[in-house]
Amino acid sequence: MIVMKFGGTSVGSVDAIRRVAAIVKTHYHLQPIVVVSAMSKVTDTLRDIAEEACRGHDPMDRVEALRRRHEVTINALIDQEERASALATCFDMIDELKNICHGIMLLQELSPRSIDLVSSFGERLSAPIIATALRTHDVPSVPVDAREYIKTDGRYTEAEVDFLETTRRLSSGLKPLINDGKVPVITGFVGSTSEGVTTTLGRGASDYTAAIVGSVLKTDEIWIWTDVDGAMTADPRIVANARVLENISYHEAAEMSYFGAKVLHPKTMLPAVKQQISIRIRNTFNPTEPGTLISGDTMPTTMGVKAVTSIDQLCLIMIEGGSLIGTPDTPARLFKTTAEHKIPIIMITQASSEHDICLLINEKDGQRIVAALKTEFRHEMDLGSLETISVQPNLVAVAVVGQGMKGTPGIAARTFGILGEHGINIIAIAQGSSELNISFVVARSDLQRAVQLVHDSFKLSGKGVS
Ligand code: ADP
Ligand code: ASP
Ligand code: MG
Repeated sequence: MIVMKFGGTSVGSVDAIRRVAAIVKTHYHLQPIVVVSAMSKVTDTLRDIAEEACRGHDPMDRVEALRRRHEVTINALIDQEERASALATCFDMIDELKNICHGIMLLQELSPRSIDLVSSFGERLSAPIIATALRTHDVPSVPVDAREYIKTDGRYTEAEVDFLETTRRLSSGLKPLINDGKVPVITGFVGSTSEGVTTTLGRGASDYTAAIVGSVLKTDEIWIWTDVDGAMTADPRIVANARVLENISYHEAAEMSYFGAKVLHPKTMLPAVKQQISIRIRNTFNPTEPGTLISGDTMPTTMGVKAVTSIDQLCLIMIEGGSLIGTPDTPARLFKTTAEHKIPIIMITQASSEHDICLLINEKDGQRIVAALKTEFRHEMDLGSLETISVQPNLVAVAVVGQGMKGTPGIAARTFGILGEHGINIIAIAQGSSELNISFVVARSDLQRAVQLVHDSFKLSGKGVS
């Protein structure tokens, strides 16, 4: 068995879905289990629609545009005999979406639970279309709504999977289908609570759905079909000479995705590592390329560096004051506040003088956390023992990633040397003890130059770098 996950661009048009059908048909002998994303940009549109409704604006024109896009796709892809029922399924779902949007508009209230319900329509619309398109291409196939199988807690928009219950349901539900020669087409990204309330696993998490299904059913491999030839030495939109990596380890892939390589969702590696199932990243639009193999092994490279990745739209929260020295509860109160406000922290730095602590977070959370910290530390600020809590916006984090960096001297010197030579100011630096990456913060205006310079200084576009 093989899990094959097709991302948004891979199912984003009639031509793309035809390619998907051809790929699945070619690999039918491997017993494929298909996981699909929403058609490209549909999840973004659904989020916008929900927000528009919440502001009291009528989003029905945009819902209609979604209906037309799916209708056109059905008409072009699906045989006459199945077309009417495919259209009916699609239109019923659009009617349900309209009712929900109407409710949001009346209440002018949008909870994370409602965001998940609205967001789930993308995959719920695409999966039946793709399953029917596969049947049109003579591949016996059935759509599967993952909400029946992937059970989660109620942390809406980032739900945690209940692996015990999910394993029980996926094993008993999918195995008979597969043994019967059918190809399940499963909605990525979505799940539901034990009470049956719709949840989602986080943006971009259809990759994670694929890994969950693969690890539960112990498939031979998990293939992530996307729109690039594999995991690359840098984001190809930033570095024109970025190169496809033939082979990286689970740890390297996790580190790259955590530090901004959008090609994989960071959680994807967790279930795969547990069962030691290899992940392969492949290009739907260039299927003869071998792609990138992600497994327990890694190949040596120049100084152990594999890739340079980056995260945009960040800000630095700076807490400064002489009397932070000798007050060990300051970090505890700081993290209690970020945890209470559910603010993810990307990087933490503290100078040994303990004069200041810096947190790197998403820019959108900046003002909110500064206000919360000013409340938490009001007393210290009044006394003057804590001087400032401030935010520095327009920042990016850049990470140099590679398993072989561990114990290799000179990587930091080379990285910071090249940036210094070109006058790029480094605002903060962090390196975890795992030595899988060195990360640093620069101004957004320096992003492209910084990534390109570091990429080239480690000769990552050169041949022989795996
Ligand atoms: P999908 O819709 O198939 O899930 P995504 O858009 O989520 O695809 O991820 C693929 C995109 O990730 C590529 O088009 C590429 O622009 C971007 N990307 C960013 N960093 C990297 C990287 N290091 N290697 C490959 N792709 C990357
Ligand atoms: N459709 C979801 C998103 O855009 C999940 C995914 O595509 O992986 O976030
Ligand atoms: Mg993706």
